[in-house]
Amino acid sequence: MASPRKKAAAPRSRGAPRRRVPNPALPQILDVLRRDYAEAHCELNHRNAFELLIATILSAQCTDVRVNLVTADLFQKYRRPEDYLAVAQEELEEDIRSTGFYRNKAKNIRRACQTLVEDHGGEVPRTMTALRKLGGVGRKTANVVLGNIWNEPDGVVVDTHVTRISRKLGLTNEESAEKIETDLNRIIDPEDWVMFSHWLIWHGRRVCKARNPDCEGCNLYPYCPTRA
Ligand code: SF4
Repeated sequence: MASPRKKAAAPRSRGAPRRRVPNPALPQILDVLRRDYAEAHCELNHRNAFELLIATILSAQCTDVRVNLVTADLFQKYRRPEDYLAVAQEELEEDIRSTGFYRNKAKNIRRACQTLVEDHGGEVPRTMTALRKLGGVGRKTANVVLGNIWNEPDGVVVDTHVTRISRKLGLTNEESAEKIETDLNRIIDPEDWVMFSHWLIWHGRRVCKARNPDCEGCNLYPYCPTRA
């Protein structure tokens, strides 16, 4: 993975004014998360932008652990976009079957690879607009790549953990990922966009689990409006 570099200019929410933070304890929440998850990072194994793009597409409705098991072999067999286009779709489907939704994922991966080859010389583009034009790449996937490879996210990555916990913490009342991202982009410093996602994802996997949140053991307890 390339060394993240500093963003040139803080892209604060495209010029939108700061909205009132729903939970006034946001500074304390950020302090706790920053302290507890200082080592947080992307848990999808990858060596470059292309591998992270593929791993993120595979991670939809699938655990990172499962994706890493699959990509351990996959990334040996397929190293460049052309490699995914050189096999029949059915072969790729078999190679990624255990990640679920494998037909759709195989189709999206091949569409993305086709566009990478035709429009970008086989390289992963570095803008949200270009990434969104690849097959099956939404804002979440694009922000994962932009943030973790180049430290140039266009916003907060909103996955299932970020959705659940940002709502629990009273940072948004929205339900759609797009609107939640808009809310979070307004209240989180752009310098923290990448890490904020990792903090909530790590918190969601370790403490605030979907089915059984450990509120008694949670360091955010004093600041959480939905604590049990
Ligand atoms: S107090 Fe409970 S609901 Fe709130 S963030 Fe912690 S674990 Fe989640």
